[in-house]
Amino acid sequence: MARPAVKAGVRSGARHESAVNTDGRRGKSGKAAGTPRVTLIPGDGVGPEVIGAAVKVIEAVGVKIDWDQQMAGAAALRRFGTPVPDQLIDSLKSTSVALKGPLETRVGEGYRSINVYLRKHFELYANVRPVRTQAGVHTPFAGVDLVVIRENTEDLYAGIEHEVAPGVVESVKIITARASTRIARFAFEYARTNHRRLVTAIHKANIMKLSDGLFLKCAQRVAREYHDIAYKEQIVDAACMRLVTDPQAFDVLLLENLYGDIVSDLCAGLVGGLGFVPGANYGRHGAIFETVHGTAPDIAGKGIVNPVAAIKTGALLLDYLGHERAGNRIRAAVNAVLSAGRVVTPDIGGKAGTADMTAAVIRAL
Ligand code: NAD
Repeated sequence: MARPAVKAGVRSGARHESAVNTDGRRGKSGKAAGTPRVTLIPGDGVGPEVIGAAVKVIEAVGVKIDWDQQMAGAAALRRFGTPVPDQLIDSLKSTSVALKGPLETRVGEGYRSINVYLRKHFELYANVRPVRTQAGVHTPFAGVDLVVIRENTEDLYAGIEHEVAPGVVESVKIITARASTRIARFAFEYARTNHRRLVTAIHKANIMKLSDGLFLKCAQRVAREYHDIAYKEQIVDAACMRLVTDPQAFDVLLLENLYGDIVSDLCAGLVGGLGFVPGANYGRHGAIFETVHGTAPDIAGKGIVNPVAAIKTGALLLDYLGHERAGNRIRAAVNAVLSAGRVVTPDIGGKAGTADMTAAVIRAL
């Protein structure tokens, strides 16, 4: 399959976001040619429920995809004795694009994160998470409209940890000029292409003067090339406070891996929770689409998980495949269901199950 132009975070509504290549160049609006082959990873916990919902909506909107279903994570460990089976990697190599459910990573034990492994293995260096207030979803915050852009390949996620002596453990934070410059350029290109006005680099360079200092220097260097986009910096703790007092002060957020992970969930909270925020990991040679939320073990199997984040993630996949109109139809249908507020899941005060809410989105298409 010819690799389509990558689009980062197409949004519905008046401000439409257009295509960006992952290496930072503006892309052609991808034309869908033939039936694309996409790796489908249902994932663990609520993964199969939400990915099933996303696939149903994609089918209902009329886009044909040749899904190559694969297992990863805990499900694959049970079936094949490894969380990353060879056939998964082979599939990703051949399709270069996936729709993936969340994967379980145990706390303090077990294998290292398969999400992190896949992002690094396929150099999917830019994690993009559009966060937007949804009509019909009541939160204390109005008019939130921002995009979290998180560096995906290094930082403390390098996974270099060792016990120096009993009771003393070291975790190594890796920050390189190459990865920092690459993600900064992605953020500014994204801002330019999507008519955004401001990039805010979020850091802790007052404490980590070398590592976060390097990240900032790279961002500053790139910022000087983009006279049309304003650039600001904010220390991560102050940024968190500002996000919950004045979220409209932000537009595109540029973060290292760990801060990006944490701030993403904070931002999801601004718009009603993890059930609403889609996401994508872009690299030069492919993309994996996944929600911000995890396996939600507390509600897995109960049929009540909010499918919106996964359905909107499916819409991002369609944008990437060149089916932008279908993506927009899906976003509009989700907005209609949420605005009506009748068939919504318990996380936002409704009584509907995942299947009913998905069916309502399909009816609204
Ligand atoms: P989580 O996102 O799974 O859940 C946090 C809380 O939000 C839970 O109360 C959950 O019920 C709720 N929630 C999440 N998504 C929801 C939805 N769509 N609808 C309604 N409620 C929803 O985070 P966690 O509990 O910290 O992590 C659980 C597991 O998921 C861990 O093993 C973690 O490593 C993994 N995880 C995976 C990914 C990924 O695959 N990309 C991302 C985050 C966490």
